[in-house]
This record gives sequence, structure tokens and C-alpha cells, in this order.
Amino acid sequence: MTEGLPFYEKWREAIIQCSRCGFCRAVCPIFDMSKRPITNARGKMILLKEAMDGRLPVTGGVAQAIMRCTTCMNCTVNCPSGAEPDKVIKAARKEMVGMGYDNLFKAMGEVVEKSGNIYGEEDRYGWGHKKGKAPYVLFVGCVGTYREEESVAESIRLLDLLGVDFTTVDEVCCSGVLEDVGYEVKEDMVGHNLREIRETGAKTLIATCPYCYRVFAEHPFYRDLGLEVKHITQFLKELSFQVKTEKRVTYHDPCDLGRHSGIYDEPREIIRKVAPNFVEPERTRENAMCCGSGGGFRGTFPRDSLKIARNRLDRIIEETGAEILLTECPSCLHNFRNAKLRRQKIGIYNITEFIAQLYQEGASQGKQAA
Ligand code: SF4
Ligand code: SF4
Repeated sequence: MTEGLPFYEKWREAIIQCSRCGFCRAVCPIFDMSKRPITNARGKMILLKEAMDGRLPVTGGVAQAIMRCTTCMNCTVNCPSGAEPDKVIKAARKEMVGMGYDNLFKAMGEVVEKSGNIYGEEDRYGWGHKKGKAPYVLFVGCVGTYREEESVAESIRLLDLLGVDFTTVDEVCCSGVLEDVGYEVKEDMVGHNLREIRETGAKTLIATCPYCYRVFAEHPFYRDLGLEVKHITQFLKELSFQVKTEKRVTYHDPCDLGRHSGIYDEPREIIRKVAPNFVEPERTRENAMCCGSGGGFRGTFPRDSLKIARNRLDRIIEETGAEILLTECPSCLHNFRNAKLRRQKIGIYNITEFIAQLYQEGASQGKQAA
């Protein structure tokens, strides 16, 4: 017998609670892509039970199996035993990093610490930076800032077109991702964000990224933020738009916005205002399949992450026949855009970016008519 994983009682109970029914197989994006039983929540729970009881030594291979998870939560919402495998997996990652099996995510941990963002980039604010005091403060996050800056610039243009009085800050990573990959949240980074945000005097923080939204709304480190926190879809659903499209439009629920935050209706309300020809994919709302980008998975297993995005995109196109795929998450957007094949004609946008472009098209048509 080897020494088992020193799991807290809470997680021991959750692991024992797993009845091995296998309902989670059908909803796991990693299993869907790899077809390997070890990759779904059932496989991981069995592995962790063996490791916890000391029958299986914790090796790099075991750690790697536990790291292969996007933390999409689809297993948890479909688990009849209430075992919460996504939380168990997150707790197991922490224990494994504590035991020294951190080679897979180590680079990410170090990069965030050193540079203040998940990519180690220096060149910020391709989306345009506003400073100063305003009732609303916009927080963009790492993926939008460094990988989808043109999309963010369009979201900002939409807020300007709608006359929203907002500012932005000299932001660093919200640092929630560090916990997802087994590390601790960096208090100095949280402190920096808190100072910057408070200096704006804003009453409401608007997050463009669903993951940042969750961290600001839920994480104890941001408890004293003192601002109302809204995802951009919650904010925009109250507004009206002077544009419309007849195109066939569909929507992908980001895991962090949907399953993790329960925000399903707001994006749809906004889309229906501008795109009456809206159609749902078969797997939608709490059953939406993950795009493969979350939980540190894209950074650590980029090829598999892309394969998952390709699977999801292929099915959405097949099921809906949509010309436009909308989402409101820079990570989902980035993964789908990378996964899209040249022969696939579907346009992929964040909702806010798409509406800004409808305004642009309207303005160009107006000019031509004149
Ligand atoms: S659905 Fe829940 S109980 Fe069933 S195998 Fe998966 S984790 Fe275990
Ligand atoms: S959280 Fe998602 S990726 Fe991870 S095991 Fe569950 S279904 Fe699979």
C-alpha cells in the first residue's frame, strides 16, 4: 500500500458518492473527443478513489488524467448522485500540485505571476484604453485583451454607440484561473485590480468575460469590491438596439456563463431583439457541450482543445444550418474561430461585436443611399 491522496473529508464523501452509473460519459467533451473511459468524470472518480485509498500510486500519468478536464461542469449537472465531479477534480488538482505534480500547469502559474496575464504578453490595450471616473467600469480579462482584441474593440464601440458612460482600468488577470489549475490566487494581483477599480468611482463593474464575471461575483478575495457586478449580457438586456438582421443566427452557451452562473436568458433576449430568425442548437442551455477551452485545458492541451471546438462547431452547423454563431465569451470565441475550417461559411462573433457590426453595416448602407 502506498500513501493515499490526503483528500479532505468533503471530497472523500463526494468520491464515494459516485455510483459509477456512467451518465457523465455522454456529456464530457474530453470523452467525446478521445473515447477513452479514463477521461470522463466516472473514470476520474474511479482513479481518485484508488489513489485516495492508496491502491494506486499518484504518478505523472494520474496527474495528467486529472488535468484533462475543462471544468465545464456538464458532468455535475447530469450526475444523479450529486457527486459534483468538477469540484472534486479541481480539489484533486490542488492536492497534486501540492505533491509536486505541477509540471503541466507550472508554466501557466509562473507566467501569470510574472506578467500579470495568462499569456506572458506585454503589449496591452489593442482594444483602446479609457481612463478616469465613470458610473460603469469595464473589465476585459486576458483572452479578450491579448487574443480577441478586435472583438473587444467592437464591444467597446457598441457601448459608445449606446451612450454608456464607462471607463476601463489598468487591469491584470483576475487570477481565478490559478485555482482551477491547482495554484493559489495571487493576493497582490487581486489588490491591484481592487485599487484600480475603486479609483474609478464606478458603481457597477461590467465584465465582458464570463470567467472574470464569476471570479468578481463569487470569489472571497473580491468580496469587498463594493460594486454591483454584471456580465455584459446582463447589462445590455435592458437596452434597445436600432438594428436588425434577417440572417439565421444561433447561440453557444459558454460554460462559465451558463452552467456555472445560470445566465441563459439574457443573451437570448438580446439576440432576439436583433435577430428574429434565431435557432437553438440541439445541445443547449445547461446541456450545451463545452468548446474545449476552459480550466487551463487549451493552454495545456491545445490540439485536443481545438478538436473539441471543431466537434462542437461541426454539430452546431449541422443541427442549425445557421449563418451566424454567436456567443459572449472571449475564450469560446477564440477557440471556435481557430477551429473553423475555410470551407465553413458560418460567421462567428460575440453578441456585442455582432451588434456593433450591424450598426456599422446600417451606417454604410445609409451613406451609400445618400
Ligand atoms: S454521473 Fe455522477 S455518479 Fe454517475 S458515474 Fe458520473 S460522476 Fe459517478
Ligand atoms: S467537468 Fe467537463 S471536462 Fe471535466 S470531467 Fe466533467 S464533463 Fe468532463
